[in-house]
Amino acid sequence: SGLAVGIDIGGTKVAAGAVDGAGNVVAELVRPTPGHDPRDVEELIAALVRDLASEHRVVAVGVGAAGWMDLAGGTVLFSPHLAWRNEPLRDNLQRLLRRPVTVVNDADAAAWGEFRFGAGASEPRLVCITLGTGIGGAMVMDGRLERGRWGVAGEFGHQVIMPGGHRCACGNRGCWEQYASGNALGREARELAAANSPVAQRWLQAAGGIVEDITGAVVTEQAKRADPASVRLLEETGEWLGLGLANLAAALDPGLFVIGGGLCEAGDLLLQPARHALERNLTGRGFRPLADVRLAALGPRAGMIGAADLARAAAG
Ligand code: BGC
Ligand code: ZN
Repeated sequence: SGLAVGIDIGGTKVAAGAVDGAGNVVAELVRPTPGHDPRDVEELIAALVRDLASEHRVVAVGVGAAGWMDLAGGTVLFSPHLAWRNEPLRDNLQRLLRRPVTVVNDADAAAWGEFRFGAGASEPRLVCITLGTGIGGAMVMDGRLERGRWGVAGEFGHQVIMPGGHRCACGNRGCWEQYASGNALGREARELAAANSPVAQRWLQAAGGIVEDITGAVVTEQAKRADPASVRLLEETGEWLGLGLANLAAALDPGLFVIGGGLCEAGDLLLQPARHALERNLTGRGFRPLADVRLAALGPRAGMIGAADLARAAAG
């Protein structure tokens, strides 16, 4: 058998795991995503694979990357959060590692992981949403990843949900990921802190008095300790999340929404308001079944596990 390495490259961190055939993570390494040079990201991936391969028998390598993959899976066409523009990521990694590498979008990897081993294991038509630096989107339809005509289907994070709203790294304004991602949560909290709002006290304290260090994770942490302002901010974020889900239900009619990514640490503090907003905004509400909204059963490891499984399948 042997293990497959799965690597999840997000906007803030790179997580690598050695994963067995049943989706169990046997060993794991996490590093911050290196700045702006694509070469640095490739070197880091290669180093992580070598580290894991020195301790385990590695039979396949899969990478889930926060970027828009072409259909062939070799080239990252574009990434809003990383420096990839028409980047031949797979070739570069294969040259560095001297072995075959499978490369997919990070949310596609997470959707696959959840479909195979997690919350979506009994649902053949599911939509997976990952909440982190941005919002990732992916769908498993009738048991396979739906990737569109060019490979870039499922970029739900860039549905415009507020015309003229916050500027997005993709170039547009008002994208969903500017309202319902981990980064969006952090930005709202920082705005309050910068305005010297008394509700921001706890966040500032937790961030050592430095406004720039207030992140979505800081707010989530405080919300879990029942800080009312933090609970309220997560509620707002959850409402934006649910509105976007209602749009997706109108377009795709999935049986299940799986919510993953770092912000899913917030659990029901985020999901309950999202479910309510989905119900309130669903077209034809009351006259159609309502899709379930569930947390990723594999948590933030869904992407790593899915990438590993896709690589294992590709290796035969
Ligand atoms: C990107 C997606 C990615 C997501 C999560 C979005 O901004 O467009 O490709 O899956 O962020 O990392
Ligand atoms: Zn955008």
